[in-house]
Amino acid sequence: DLLSQWGIDNKELTKEALSSIKEEVFNMTDLMEKLLFIAREENTRYKLNLTNVDIPSLLKRVYKEFKMIDKKHTYLIHNISEFHGFIDEKLILQAIRAIIENSIKYTPKNKQITISCEKKKSYFEIKVSDKGIGIPKKHIPKLFNRFYRVDEARTKDTGGNGLGLSIVKSIVDMHNGHIFIDSEVNKGTTITLKLPI
Ligand code: ATP
Ligand code: MG
Repeated sequence: DLLSQWGIDNKELTKEALSSIKEEVFNMTDLMEKLLFIAREENTRYKLNLTNVDIPSLLKRVYKEFKMIDKKHTYLIHNISEFHGFIDEKLILQAIRAIIENSIKYTPKNKQITISCEKKKSYFEIKVSDKGIGIPKKHIPKLFNRFYRVDEARTKDTGGNGLGLSIVKSIVDMHNGHIFIDSEVNKGTTITLKLPI
């Protein structure tokens, strides 16, 4: 509207309009990808592409990626020795990214986000911890519902549709795994994915 009303001669305005358009396109792409994922998952039995993946290496890649993109938080990865899991790498990556994106949105500047993993007997765990605003206990059981967001007032600046965790939950279910959320208001949140080896 700005552009069509004032034309493109005003440089400042054009810049502002372009940046709005860019942001909206990004949000719409993000939403569309999430809706497409849900639609695909419902209509077909999603065929998992399971391969043997070095889990710590995968996490190191994610760690480097976020360290580069997000300069507002400090990142920590626990020193972890090599083990393999039989997973759909693309989907698990998508799940980990969605969890870290939440940590970014709901953690104040300069605070820490920690990524780690651990191999147990027949399963392994991937954990993402943040020192963010936390989630009140009563909301935790509902977070996997589609479009569920905790109190719009606290999340109005962050954007989002409440789809991220519902998608993470389906990805974990497809792998016959479990997801756990531990959180304390004003202290932080830890999300644990427990996946069979
Ligand atoms: P989308 O992921 O679709 O962009 P979203 O981030 O709001 O939107 P979910 O990822 O499903 O949706 O998360 C649901 C709600 O859970 C969020 O709105 C937020 O209130 C709360 N939440 C999730 N992760 C965290 C976290 N690490 N710290 C605090 N609150 C969180
Ligand atoms: Mg999210």
